[in-house]
Amino acid sequence: MVRITLPVPANIKTRAQVLEEKWNLRSLTLVTLTVEDPVEFLAERRLLKNSSICCACNISRTVIKNNCSDKIIWRCPTGRGKKSIRESSFFSDSNLELLTVITFMYCWAKDMPLKNCSKEVDGPSPNTECDWANFCRDICAEWLLTHPRVIGGFCDDGNGNIVPAIVEIDESYVFHRKYHRGRYTPGAWIFGGIQGGDWRFFFGRGPKPDKKNSGSFD
Ligand SMILES: [Zn+2]
Repeated sequence: MVRITLPVPANIKTRAQVLEEKWNLRSLTLVTLTVEDPVEFLAERRLLKNSSICCACNISRTVIKNNCSDKIIWRCPTGRGKKSIRESSFFSDSNLELLTVITFMYCWAKDMPLKNCSKEVDGPSPNTECDWANFCRDICAEWLLTHPRVIGGFCDDGNGNIVPAIVEIDESYVFHRKYHRGRYTPGAWIFGGIQGGDWRFFFGRGPKPDKKNSGSFD
């Protein structure tokens, strides 16, 4: 049994530290070479747990190497129970390798076309890649809904000059089909806007916009 140590507390990054990070595919590859690296990479960024308590014994589990798909697992020191390293995480319902998910999410965040994201991770099934793209979108949508920002007005042009802010707004009708087949379910009109430069944006849903009701979005 080989014990592994997850990041020491000093290596666990704050949200501000994560936002400051700059990555490219090469640097990402260099920090995810071994079996443990993807787990450590995610644990450092608090996307996987850094500790786990055995419910039966009320003591801390340790991390050991295992033959499961992640090759690493939480294990109670008494030997009674094991838990997936993905327990209660964004990745807990997926069977994809963590390195595959990390690389896919990087490519998606870099705005690569879905077919290119898929090629970089040796192509999971089309449904799986669509699902993961939707998971990523859901996270962004949730953040936008819970952090609405007022856009417009005036802003700094980067040279110390106060100028009118440039904003872009648009509406779109969105809908989906269950399991990508069958009839389309009723959708919803989405209205959104973005202010370039400082990445302020908002969106909301409402009735079909026209001159009479364009101000009635949530
Ligand atoms: Zn236990």
